[in-house]
Amino acid sequence: MSSPYFSPLLSRFDWLDHAFMAAGERPAAGTRYNQQRHSARVILDVDALPVKSQDADGLIGTGQDAVAIYTADCLPILLADSRQQQVAAVHGGLKGILGGVLINAITHLCERGATPDSLFIAIGPAIGPCCYELGQDVIDRAEQDDPHHLAALMSWSATPWPNPASVRSQAQGTTAGVWFDLPLLAKRIALRAGVPEEQIELSQICTYCMAEEQASYRRNSHVQQGYQQRFSWIARR
Ligand SMILES: [Zn+2]
Repeated sequence: MSSPYFSPLLSRFDWLDHAFMAAGERPAAGTRYNQQRHSARVILDVDALPVKSQDADGLIGTGQDAVAIYTADCLPILLADSRQQQVAAVHGGLKGILGGVLINAITHLCERGATPDSLFIAIGPAIGPCCYELGQDVIDRAEQDDPHHLAALMSWSATPWPNPASVRSQAQGTTAGVWFDLPLLAKRIALRAGVPEEQIELSQICTYCMAEEQASYRRNSHVQQGYQQRFSWIARR
């Protein structure tokens, strides 16, 4: 995969454009994005200039400039509100997701006139449960310090999910940990917020074993071949 990934779910709308760009590609001039901190902070595009002047991990687009996030293994999440024609981009790493960044983005959109049934959410290429090992201690901490009551939504396995679509070796375990499904956690958060299941889409593309060779921060930590950020953006027409 070296061309952009386009979500079938979002491609149905003629009032927006979007792309999950290939790792290493740069977004168009005028695209707005923030300094990402694995936080739960979500801001409006009008407060996001100049680019990277704000610390935030979610960005709501109210104008026509594209809003973007950059990721390596974290979840790139693009949201569209068909009621008010708002868009949003969310950077969802484990810490940010547990901290409520996706919950906050959904809440902000709904405060601005969206309803859960008007939201369409596409989760792009990210590290999958085939390759995402977490120490059991990380899981234990997430269950103990769980302000958003996400423990029941978390899914993991003692062994990695075999990925028949992998194009290179899946990650080998290094910590005798568990294999965590972060995309599924985000999907379940959106479901719990009331977004219909058919309006939540997972790309099923694992950055470690399926995407561009340098798409994965985690893979680089194993094989030292470098990694490059992936920009994902969405814009009203
Ligand atoms: Zn994988």
